[in-house]
Amino acid sequence: MMDLERVNAYMERVKASETQTFKPVSDKLKVGLDLGTAYIVLVVLDEENNPVACEKQAASVLKDGVVVDYSGALRIVRELKEKLEARLSGLELLNCAIAMPAGTESSARTHQYVAEGAGFEVTNVLDEPSAANSIYQIDDGVVVDIGGGTTGLAILKDGKVVQIEDEPTGGTHVTLVLAGNYHIPFAEAEQIKQDYKRHREILPVVRPVVEKMASIVGRYINRDEIDTIYLCGGTCCLTGIEQIFEKQTGIRTIKPADPFLVTPAGIAMNC
Ligand code: ATP
Repeated sequence: MMDLERVNAYMERVKASETQTFKPVSDKLKVGLDLGTAYIVLVVLDEENNPVACEKQAASVLKDGVVVDYSGALRIVRELKEKLEARLSGLELLNCAIAMPAGTESSARTHQYVAEGAGFEVTNVLDEPSAANSIYQIDDGVVVDIGGGTTGLAILKDGKVVQIEDEPTGGTHVTLVLAGNYHIPFAEAEQIKQDYKRHREILPVVRPVVEKMASIVGRYINRDEIDTIYLCGGTCCLTGIEQIFEKQTGIRTIKPADPFLVTPAGIAMNC
């Protein structure tokens, strides 16, 4: 069972590291690079996994987990790295771990080239939901990472990942449905979607997309063996998403207070 209080306290500190730089216990720093469909995120932890600093940038340089704008991705990762190094008074970030949606391993090399082109040595390549489980530390259950372009899941049994899957449905599809319903441009719909004050109003509109995600996840779950779904990823910021998952799958669903930076922080832990 996940210790939700521990996860929430840890993630609060990761979030605080977006605006505050925390002193590391030593100069040995661990970096997680999450090259996402909607966001590129760099999380820096110290060698004891304490959050140090974090930078993110909205970007559309990937599609369904695959890099489609290599030079754009490279430029953003370089800029984020430089910003972090300036915040760390010039301390150089040398190593990083990366992750990608399950099933896109063939594009792992492109992710690696982006990281290396920005000046990192890549020490580890993970799949996203397994990276998230470095934070959750569950032994049994399923970790579901809903990002911008994809929904990934890792099924765990006795502390081991026994299955990883990925489906090309994510937050982008939620935004498209909103844009269509409200007859507004994508960017405007994205703004509304990220506004917590409007979540109650938009939930009935986006419910069918979320139900579809839940039914996709449900298809991979053997209900005799799995009793809990653990959510993470930016799309899980949607208020009420856990109730829709629970209703659709019939399986208890848990999410932390802030599910957005779980995967990037988990990637950094594995650097
Ligand atoms: P992927 O893993 O699919 O390649 P990604 O790594 O960019 O994508 P995340 O950064 O985990 O994915 O999540 C991005 C998604 O989260 C976007 O679709 C964004 O609109 C959504 N999102 C971010 N904040 C919120 C919010 N407050 N409410 C609802 N959705 C949000």
